Amino acid sequence: MITALGGGVGAAKFLSGLTGVLGSESLTVIVNTGDDIRIAGLRISPDVDTIIYWLSGVVDKERGWGIRGDTFNFLETVWRFGVQTWFRIGDRDLATHIHRTHLREQGFTPSQVTERIAKGLGIGNAKILPMTDEDVETWIVTDEGEMHFQEYLVKRKMTPQVKGVFVKGIENAGPAPGVIQAIEEARLVIICPSNPIISIGPILSVKGIRDALRRTRAKVVAISPLVAGIPLKGPADRLMRGLGLEVSSTQVAKLYRDFLDEMVIDEKDALEADSIKSIGLKTLVVDTIMTNEEKTEKLAENILKLLNGL
Ligand code: GDP
Repeated sequence: MITALGGGVGAAKFLSGLTGVLGSESLTVIVNTGDDIRIAGLRISPDVDTIIYWLSGVVDKERGWGIRGDTFNFLETVWRFGVQTWFRIGDRDLATHIHRTHLREQGFTPSQVTERIAKGLGIGNAKILPMTDEDVETWIVTDEGEMHFQEYLVKRKMTPQVKGVFVKGIENAGPAPGVIQAIEEARLVIICPSNPIISIGPILSVKGIRDALRRTRAKVVAISPLVAGIPLKGPADRLMRGLGLEVSSTQVAKLYRDFLDEMVIDEKDALEADSIKSIGLKTLVVDTIMTNEEKTEKLAENILKLLNGL
Protein backbone atom coordinates (compact mmCIF):
# COMPACT_ATOMS: atom_id res chain seq x y z
CA MET A 1 0.00 0.00 0.00
CA ILE A 2 1.13 3.53 -0.82
CA THR A 3 -0.04 6.54 1.16
CA ALA A 4 0.36 10.11 -0.09
CA LEU A 5 -0.05 13.45 1.72
CA GLY A 6 -0.96 16.43 -0.44
CA GLY A 7 -2.69 19.71 -1.12
CA GLY A 8 -4.23 20.80 -4.42
CA VAL A 9 -2.93 21.06 -7.96
CA GLY A 10 0.74 19.97 -7.52
CA ALA A 11 -0.35 16.88 -5.58
CA ALA A 12 -3.32 16.09 -7.81
CA LYS A 13 -1.24 16.20 -10.98
CA PHE A 14 1.38 13.92 -9.49
CA LEU A 15 -1.24 11.48 -8.16
CA SER A 16 -3.00 11.25 -11.52
CA GLY A 17 0.37 10.16 -12.97
CA LEU A 18 0.94 7.78 -10.09
CA THR A 19 -2.40 6.01 -10.54
CA GLY A 20 -1.41 5.39 -14.17
CA VAL A 21 1.64 3.34 -13.14
CA LEU A 22 0.58 1.89 -9.79
CA GLY A 23 -0.01 -1.67 -10.93
CA SER A 24 -1.40 -3.74 -8.05
CA GLU A 25 -0.40 -1.29 -5.28
CA SER A 26 -3.34 0.42 -3.57
CA LEU A 27 -3.27 4.17 -2.96
CA THR A 28 -4.61 6.23 -0.06
CA VAL A 29 -4.41 10.02 -0.23
CA ILE A 30 -4.54 12.19 2.91
CA VAL A 31 -5.64 15.66 1.83
CA ASN A 32 -5.26 19.11 3.39
CA THR A 33 -8.54 20.70 4.49
CA GLY A 34 -7.04 23.93 5.88
CA ASP A 35 -8.04 25.64 2.60
CA ASP A 36 -11.73 24.90 3.27
CA ILE A 37 -14.00 27.91 3.24
CA ARG A 38 -17.69 28.88 3.33
CA ILE A 39 -18.74 31.09 0.48
CA ALA A 40 -22.32 32.09 -0.43
CA GLY A 41 -23.55 29.55 2.14
CA LEU A 42 -21.61 26.71 0.49
CA ARG A 43 -19.03 24.47 2.11
CA ILE A 44 -16.06 24.37 -0.22
CA SER A 45 -13.09 22.03 0.16
CA PRO A 46 -10.75 23.14 -2.64
CA ASP A 47 -7.89 20.68 -2.18
CA VAL A 48 -10.16 17.64 -1.72
CA ASP A 49 -12.13 18.62 -4.83
CA THR A 50 -9.00 19.24 -6.90
CA ILE A 51 -7.69 15.75 -6.04
CA ILE A 52 -11.08 14.18 -6.82
CA TYR A 53 -11.44 16.06 -10.12
CA TRP A 54 -7.94 15.05 -11.30
CA LEU A 55 -8.24 11.40 -10.25
CA SER A 56 -11.71 11.08 -11.81
CA GLY A 57 -10.52 12.74 -15.03
CA VAL A 58 -13.15 15.53 -15.06
CA VAL A 59 -10.63 18.25 -14.22
CA ASP A 60 -9.87 21.26 -16.39
CA LYS A 61 -6.19 20.45 -16.90
CA GLU A 62 -5.40 23.85 -18.39
CA ARG A 63 -6.53 25.71 -15.28
CA GLY A 64 -5.50 22.92 -12.91
CA TRP A 65 -8.76 23.18 -10.92
CA GLY A 66 -12.50 22.98 -11.56
CA ILE A 67 -14.37 20.91 -14.13
CA ARG A 68 -13.55 20.84 -17.84
CA GLY A 69 -15.96 22.82 -20.02
CA ASP A 70 -17.65 24.44 -17.03
CA THR A 71 -19.65 27.67 -17.28
CA PHE A 72 -20.05 30.42 -14.67
CA ASN A 73 -23.73 31.41 -14.81
CA PHE A 74 -24.34 30.81 -11.09
CA LEU A 75 -21.44 33.06 -10.16
CA GLU A 76 -22.53 35.84 -12.48
CA THR A 77 -26.04 35.72 -11.05
CA VAL A 78 -25.11 35.78 -7.35
CA TRP A 79 -22.78 38.62 -8.17
CA ARG A 80 -25.86 40.67 -9.01
CA PHE A 81 -27.13 39.95 -5.50
CA GLY A 82 -23.93 41.45 -4.12
CA VAL A 83 -22.58 38.14 -2.79
CA GLN A 84 -18.78 38.05 -2.42
CA THR A 85 -17.71 35.95 -5.38
CA TRP A 86 -13.98 36.44 -5.66
CA PHE A 87 -13.75 32.65 -5.26
CA ARG A 88 -14.44 31.09 -8.67
CA ILE A 89 -17.21 28.49 -8.69
CA GLY A 90 -18.25 26.87 -11.98
CA ASP A 91 -21.81 25.62 -12.57
CA ARG A 92 -20.85 21.91 -12.59
CA ASP A 93 -18.45 22.47 -9.72
CA LEU A 94 -21.41 24.00 -7.84
CA ALA A 95 -23.09 20.57 -7.75
CA THR A 96 -20.20 19.27 -5.61
CA HIS A 97 -20.45 22.18 -3.17
CA ILE A 98 -24.24 21.92 -2.88
CA HIS A 99 -24.01 18.17 -2.31
CA ARG A 100 -21.28 18.62 0.34
CA THR A 101 -23.21 21.41 2.09
CA HIS A 102 -26.43 19.38 2.09
CA LEU A 103 -24.74 16.23 3.43
CA ARG A 104 -22.89 18.19 6.14
CA GLU A 105 -26.18 19.80 7.22
CA GLN A 106 -27.62 16.30 7.55
CA GLY A 107 -24.76 15.41 9.90
CA PHE A 108 -22.41 13.53 7.59
CA THR A 109 -18.71 13.99 8.37
CA PRO A 110 -16.17 15.39 5.87
CA SER A 111 -14.77 11.83 5.42
CA GLN A 112 -18.21 10.44 4.62
CA VAL A 113 -18.92 13.32 2.25
CA THR A 114 -15.55 12.90 0.50
CA GLU A 115 -16.15 9.18 0.07
CA ARG A 116 -19.55 9.82 -1.53
CA ILE A 117 -18.33 12.52 -3.90
CA ALA A 118 -15.32 10.40 -4.95
CA LYS A 119 -17.58 7.40 -5.56
CA GLY A 120 -20.11 9.52 -7.44
CA LEU A 121 -17.41 10.71 -9.83
CA GLY A 122 -16.23 7.15 -10.34
CA ILE A 123 -12.93 7.04 -8.46
CA GLY A 124 -12.12 3.41 -7.82
CA ASN A 125 -8.33 3.38 -7.84
CA ALA A 126 -7.63 5.49 -4.74
CA LYS A 127 -9.06 6.11 -1.31
CA ILE A 128 -9.28 9.84 -0.53
CA LEU A 129 -9.28 10.91 3.11
CA PRO A 130 -9.55 14.46 4.46
CA MET A 131 -6.81 14.97 7.08
CA THR A 132 -9.42 15.60 9.81
CA ASP A 133 -13.19 15.64 10.27
CA GLU A 134 -13.01 18.87 12.29
CA ASP A 135 -13.57 22.14 10.46
CA VAL A 136 -10.25 23.98 10.41
CA GLU A 137 -9.12 27.06 8.47
CA THR A 138 -5.66 28.29 7.52
CA TRP A 139 -5.22 32.02 8.13
CA ILE A 140 -2.39 34.27 7.04
CA VAL A 141 -1.07 37.09 9.21
CA THR A 142 -0.03 39.95 6.91
CA ASP A 143 1.03 43.58 7.10
CA GLU A 144 -2.61 44.35 6.16
CA GLY A 145 -4.19 42.22 8.88
CA GLU A 146 -5.21 38.58 9.24
CA MET A 147 -7.11 36.87 6.43
CA HIS A 148 -8.26 33.41 5.35
CA PHE A 149 -5.68 31.78 3.07
CA GLN A 150 -8.14 31.81 0.12
CA GLU A 151 -8.69 35.52 0.61
CA TYR A 152 -4.92 36.07 0.59
CA LEU A 153 -4.48 33.85 -2.49
CA VAL A 154 -7.52 34.57 -4.65
CA LYS A 155 -8.92 37.94 -3.56
CA ARG A 156 -5.69 39.70 -2.62
CA LYS A 157 -3.57 37.84 -5.23
CA MET A 158 -0.75 37.21 -2.72
CA THR A 159 0.13 40.94 -2.50
CA PRO A 160 0.04 41.54 1.30
CA GLN A 161 3.32 40.78 3.02
CA VAL A 162 3.23 37.53 5.00
CA LYS A 163 4.14 37.73 8.70
CA GLY A 164 2.81 34.40 9.94
CA VAL A 165 0.45 31.47 9.43
CA PHE A 166 -1.96 29.76 11.80
CA VAL A 167 -4.64 27.10 11.47
CA LYS A 168 -7.86 27.94 13.32
CA GLY A 169 -9.27 24.98 15.23
CA ILE A 170 -6.23 22.74 14.71
CA GLU A 171 -5.78 22.26 18.51
CA ASN A 172 -8.95 20.18 18.56
CA ALA A 173 -8.39 18.38 15.27
CA GLY A 174 -7.80 14.66 15.45
CA PRO A 175 -7.04 12.58 12.35
CA ALA A 176 -9.98 11.42 10.21
CA PRO A 177 -10.81 7.70 10.39
CA GLY A 178 -8.22 5.62 8.56
CA VAL A 179 -5.53 8.32 8.41
CA ILE A 180 -3.16 6.94 11.05
CA GLN A 181 -3.69 3.39 9.86
CA ALA A 182 -2.88 4.42 6.28
CA ILE A 183 0.45 5.87 7.45
CA GLU A 184 1.26 2.94 9.72
CA GLU A 185 0.41 0.22 7.23
CA ALA A 186 1.96 1.75 4.10
CA ARG A 187 5.16 0.48 2.50
CA LEU A 188 5.81 3.88 1.00
CA VAL A 189 4.60 7.31 2.15
CA ILE A 190 4.90 10.10 -0.41
CA ILE A 191 4.78 13.77 0.55
CA CYS A 192 3.51 15.25 -2.74
CA PRO A 193 4.98 18.38 -4.39
CA SER A 194 2.69 20.69 -2.42
CA ASN A 195 3.18 23.91 -0.53
CA PRO A 196 5.07 22.91 2.65
CA ILE A 197 3.54 25.73 4.75
CA ILE A 198 -0.15 25.79 3.86
CA SER A 199 -0.76 22.37 2.29
CA ILE A 200 1.52 19.88 4.06
CA GLY A 201 1.96 22.04 7.20
CA PRO A 202 -1.70 21.78 8.34
CA ILE A 203 -1.72 17.99 7.75
CA LEU A 204 1.38 17.62 9.93
CA SER A 205 -0.31 19.72 12.64
CA VAL A 206 -3.26 17.34 13.04
CA LYS A 207 -2.90 15.44 16.30
CA GLY A 208 -0.97 12.19 15.87
CA ILE A 209 -0.06 12.50 12.18
CA ARG A 210 3.53 13.66 12.62
CA ASP A 211 4.13 10.99 15.26
CA ALA A 212 2.70 8.32 12.96
CA LEU A 213 5.10 9.46 10.21
CA ARG A 214 8.04 9.23 12.63
CA ARG A 215 6.93 5.79 13.78
CA THR A 216 5.93 4.12 10.53
CA ARG A 217 8.12 1.43 9.04
CA ALA A 218 7.24 2.77 5.60
CA LYS A 219 9.88 4.57 3.60
CA VAL A 220 8.91 8.27 3.68
CA VAL A 221 9.77 10.27 0.57
CA ALA A 222 9.06 13.95 -0.23
CA ILE A 223 9.01 15.56 -3.68
CA SER A 224 10.09 19.19 -3.55
CA PRO A 225 7.54 21.70 -4.87
CA LEU A 226 10.42 24.03 -5.76
CA VAL A 227 12.14 23.87 -9.13
CA ALA A 228 15.26 25.95 -9.75
CA GLY A 229 14.75 27.26 -6.23
CA ILE A 230 11.26 28.72 -6.79
CA PRO A 231 7.68 27.41 -6.79
CA LEU A 232 6.22 26.69 -10.26
CA LYS A 233 3.08 28.42 -9.05
CA GLY A 234 1.55 29.75 -5.86
CA PRO A 235 2.93 31.48 -2.81
CA ALA A 236 5.33 28.87 -1.32
CA ASP A 237 8.26 31.32 -1.62
CA ARG A 238 6.32 34.25 -0.14
CA LEU A 239 5.13 32.12 2.77
CA MET A 240 8.53 30.58 3.49
CA ARG A 241 10.24 33.97 3.35
CA GLY A 242 7.51 35.50 5.51
CA LEU A 243 8.20 32.89 8.19
CA GLY A 244 11.92 33.69 8.07
CA LEU A 245 12.82 30.51 6.16
CA GLU A 246 15.23 30.20 3.26
CA VAL A 247 13.43 29.36 -0.02
CA SER A 248 15.11 26.12 -1.10
CA SER A 249 14.50 22.39 -1.38
CA THR A 250 17.05 21.95 1.40
CA GLN A 251 14.83 24.06 3.66
CA VAL A 252 11.77 22.00 2.66
CA ALA A 253 13.75 18.85 3.56
CA LYS A 254 14.61 20.41 6.94
CA LEU A 255 10.91 20.97 7.65
CA TYR A 256 10.32 17.22 7.20
CA ARG A 257 13.68 15.97 8.53
CA ASP A 258 12.31 14.30 11.69
CA PHE A 259 10.29 11.77 9.69
CA LEU A 260 11.78 11.82 6.19
CA ASP A 261 14.01 9.14 4.61
CA GLU A 262 14.55 10.57 1.15
CA MET A 263 14.12 13.92 -0.60
CA VAL A 264 13.37 14.09 -4.32
CA ILE A 265 14.61 17.27 -5.99
CA ASP A 266 14.63 18.54 -9.55
CA GLU A 267 17.65 18.28 -11.81
CA LYS A 268 17.76 22.07 -11.85
CA ASP A 269 18.49 21.95 -8.12
CA ALA A 270 21.14 19.20 -8.34
CA LEU A 271 23.62 21.45 -6.54
CA GLU A 272 21.47 21.13 -3.40
CA ALA A 273 21.97 17.36 -3.21
CA ASP A 274 25.04 17.69 -0.98
CA SER A 275 23.38 20.08 1.47
CA ILE A 276 20.39 17.71 1.78
CA LYS A 277 22.69 14.72 2.29
CA SER A 278 24.53 16.70 4.97
CA ILE A 279 21.34 16.80 7.08
CA GLY A 280 21.25 13.00 6.96
CA LEU A 281 18.76 12.40 4.15
CA LYS A 282 19.10 10.40 0.97
CA THR A 283 18.51 12.49 -2.15
CA LEU A 284 17.11 11.55 -5.53
CA VAL A 285 17.72 14.01 -8.36
CA VAL A 286 15.27 13.64 -11.28
CA ASP A 287 13.13 15.77 -13.61
CA THR A 288 10.14 16.77 -11.43
CA ILE A 289 8.41 19.15 -13.87
CA MET A 290 5.02 17.65 -14.71
CA THR A 291 4.21 19.44 -17.97
CA ASN A 292 2.50 16.44 -19.58
CA GLU A 293 1.19 12.97 -18.72
CA GLU A 294 4.30 11.21 -19.96
CA LYS A 295 6.63 13.30 -17.80
CA THR A 296 4.32 12.95 -14.79
CA GLU A 297 4.20 9.16 -15.13
CA LYS A 298 7.98 9.07 -15.52
CA LEU A 299 8.33 10.97 -12.23
CA ALA A 300 5.87 8.57 -10.58
CA GLU A 301 7.83 5.58 -11.91
CA ASN A 302 11.03 7.02 -10.49
CA ILE A 303 9.35 7.31 -7.09
CA LEU A 304 7.95 3.77 -7.30
CA LYS A 305 11.46 2.45 -7.96
CA LEU A 306 12.24 3.48 -4.38
CA LEU A 307 9.99 0.58 -3.34
CA ASN A 308 12.48 -1.87 -4.79
CA GLY A 309 14.57 -3.42 -2.12
CA LEU A 310 12.17 -2.53 0.68
P1 GDP B 1 -2.33 24.39 -4.85
O1 GDP B 1 -2.00 23.61 -6.06
O2 GDP B 1 -2.10 25.85 -5.02
O3 GDP B 1 -3.64 24.07 -4.21
O4 GDP B 1 -1.31 23.99 -3.76
P2 GDP B 1 -0.31 22.78 -3.65
O5 GDP B 1 0.33 23.00 -2.35
O6 GDP B 1 -0.85 21.45 -3.93
O7 GDP B 1 0.67 22.97 -4.87
C1 GDP B 1 1.43 24.08 -5.08
C2 GDP B 1 2.86 23.65 -5.22
O8 GDP B 1 2.98 22.63 -6.22
C3 GDP B 1 3.69 24.82 -5.69
O9 GDP B 1 4.70 25.08 -4.73
C4 GDP B 1 4.27 24.35 -7.02
O10 GDP B 1 5.60 24.75 -7.21
C5 GDP B 1 4.17 22.84 -6.95
N1 GDP B 1 4.07 22.25 -8.27
C6 GDP B 1 3.09 22.45 -9.19
N2 GDP B 1 3.39 21.80 -10.34
C7 GDP B 1 4.59 21.18 -10.13
C8 GDP B 1 5.44 20.35 -10.94
O11 GDP B 1 5.18 20.07 -12.11
N3 GDP B 1 6.61 19.88 -10.35
C9 GDP B 1 6.95 20.17 -9.06
N4 GDP B 1 8.09 19.67 -8.56
N5 GDP B 1 6.17 20.96 -8.28
C10 GDP B 1 5.01 21.45 -8.80
